[in-house]
Amino acid sequence: MATLYPWLTPTYQQITQSFSQGRGHHALLFKAEMGVGVEQLIDAVAKFLICTESEKPCGHCHACQLSQAGNHPDVHLLAPIDNKDIGVDQVREINEIVNQYAQQGGNKIVWVQGAERLTEAAANAILKTLEEPRPNSYFLLQADLASPLMATIYSRCQMWLVNVPETALAEQWLQTQSNEKTEEISTALRISYQRPLSALTFLQQGLMEKRREFLRQFWVFYVRRSPLELLPLFEKELIFHQIDWLLAFLTDALKDKLGVQENWICQDLARGVQQFNQKQTMLGLLQANQIVQNMRLDLIQINAVNQEIILLDGLTKLITEVFEQ
Ligand SMILES: [Zn+2]
Repeated sequence: MATLYPWLTPTYQQITQSFSQGRGHHALLFKAEMGVGVEQLIDAVAKFLICTESEKPCGHCHACQLSQAGNHPDVHLLAPIDNKDIGVDQVREINEIVNQYAQQGGNKIVWVQGAERLTEAAANAILKTLEEPRPNSYFLLQADLASPLMATIYSRCQMWLVNVPETALAEQWLQTQSNEKTEEISTALRISYQRPLSALTFLQQGLMEKRREFLRQFWVFYVRRSPLELLPLFEKELIFHQIDWLLAFLTDALKDKLGVQENWICQDLARGVQQFNQKQTMLGLLQANQIVQNMRLDLIQINAVNQEIILLDGLTKLITEVFEQ
């Protein structure tokens, strides 16, 4: 078996056991949280199914070698092209292939990446195939945890939920991947909504330090009431991260106000959060959260040219509607 992220191993074992015991399903739907590396799990299941030996995956049969090289002729990918939804023509092409004999005489695999992006016609076309399973053909559907799918798709598939791992497991793994201190690691994980791969990227890109510096400057802005000083520190590629850092800080301040001490995201900046909270009213903190949420929404909806105006407007509101109340 290929190395798997530790949080994926139990699911992998359950799935492969069901196949080994002859009760494997012909269509598996993986509903997965972002940043947990579900692709690795699906890839491993595909490699298991494609191996022609009894100890799967053996790693040395012809099928294993082809799939390891990434060019097994019976492993097919169905995915959005150029970020466009998966169209019915793409599905018809795959259905055609599934109806033919496997080129290597073994199993055929169709990996559907982004199943939530099947158009309605495409989803209906794939349903027809799922309803009449062909021997030795397996569908592995991958979909975002939060995105809805057609109910009929669910009814034809065996669903596997791949959620974020438990904190301790994720932290343990991050410690094997990063030289950062334990405290940094757990903050990175919380900032990344418990998604271990996102947290690793966060650490590797040096975003911890950027975040702290940004929040330091937010403090300066708060003390001096100087939006024009903070404005140039927003970076185009980081802007949504920066807004989220700010929101996490404000949300933690609100938690502090409510006497909630658990699950703070900014535990590394707890003193700053407390100091800020002490100078605000409950209403002010709610208001501040709302203002920054609205900035985020406006930034998503409005083109980049107006980013500065949105930011300046939001920062000014923080001063007039919160800090100076
Ligand atoms: Zn093999």
